Amino acid sequence: MIYFDYQASTPVDPRVFESMKPHFSAHFGNPHSAHAFGCSAAESVEDAREKIACLIGADSDEIIFTSGATESNNLALFGLAQRRSRGRNKILISSIEHKSIFAVGRELEKKFGVECIYIPVNNEGLVDFDFIYENLDESVLAISIIGVNNEIGTIQPIAKIGRLAYEFGAFFHSDAAQAPCALDIDVYDCKISLMSLSSHKIYGPQGIGALYIKRDFVNKIEPQIFGGGQQNNIRSGTLPVALCVGFGRAAELMKEDFSVTERKELSTLRDLFVYTLTNSKWPIFSNGPKENIRHPGNANLRFSGFAADDILSAIQLKLAASSGSACNFGTTEPSYVLKAIGLTDDEASSSLRFSLGRFTTNGEVDEAIDIINAALLSL
Ligand code: PMP
Repeated sequence: MIYFDYQASTPVDPRVFESMKPHFSAHFGNPHSAHAFGCSAAESVEDAREKIACLIGADSDEIIFTSGATESNNLALFGLAQRRSRGRNKILISSIEHKSIFAVGRELEKKFGVECIYIPVNNEGLVDFDFIYENLDESVLAISIIGVNNEIGTIQPIAKIGRLAYEFGAFFHSDAAQAPCALDIDVYDCKISLMSLSSHKIYGPQGIGALYIKRDFVNKIEPQIFGGGQQNNIRSGTLPVALCVGFGRAAELMKEDFSVTERKELSTLRDLFVYTLTNSKWPIFSNGPKENIRHPGNANLRFSGFAADDILSAIQLKLAASSGSACNFGTTEPSYVLKAIGLTDDEASSSLRFSLGRFTTNGEVDEAIDIINAALLSL
């Protein structure tokens, strides 16, 4: 079985797993207890927080652990909306956000009278700057943009958006769950106010993420989970030490390993995969941006004349990929991301996302191509 779905979840790096193990046995203390067991656990958590901060150029007290990027997105936008100043009633979000942003946006409209304005994107998935400029004024509370898209891999010019938001006194939130594998981010350079991260997109364990909150804005965020007052009252609940440690180690490895060379090696494998298929006898086309603004492991391919779900069924025992479609109550809809970049329903329904990662080999790329060829022949 070949795994080409790294953007859904990355396997835990064995080095990350090693770092977590002691926290399931000898080092089991509650990090919020005052005794020696607790203090040692707290030290491990703070060490992890430091490593995550270091990955994005933040300070460790600006990192709030959450259960994942979904919760971070909720905390960021609900948190801001509930403490907004009078007159700041609009949020600008891109039309290719992750569902956890859209869903929060809808709730904000219903419950808090916040208006969401959807920023169109071009055929590479890049946000329309003229549109942002035209809609950005003193009534805008925040701009929220997905740093790197999970379906088509578009890398947004976040520093440029950050500067624009700053100019107009709006907060800038970025859902950066997919970003660390694609680029180095410095929250200060990019003028980011809030940033969501997820451990299981960077070879860490599932069930943990973080929200970066710029120190100046801590009081602008209404907590969403109340309880024992942990993490400066911003997000209560006992911290899962093993998960925090794993996330920290993953961030540290990302900083060490995911150097320019690593990303280059990954994009070389991805390009080989895409080039071979789009130059084969089949009508296969690449959706989304050019390589220079694309996540190095992301490929999104359109198999003209084929239904993506048929291809997925034909390959599913040998190759794991994803249709990128939103599955709601058993009905499969064509991807709104692909439609936002101009594909028709039919084109979107014949497209699949393949995502390669740290453990993908040349041999796997060759095999995956053979599996896809055989599947297309059988349909
Ligand atoms: N945002 C993006 C861009 C994602 O790709 C994902 C995961 N699919 C999420 C948010 C949600 O992350 P988590 O699974 O950590 O809640």
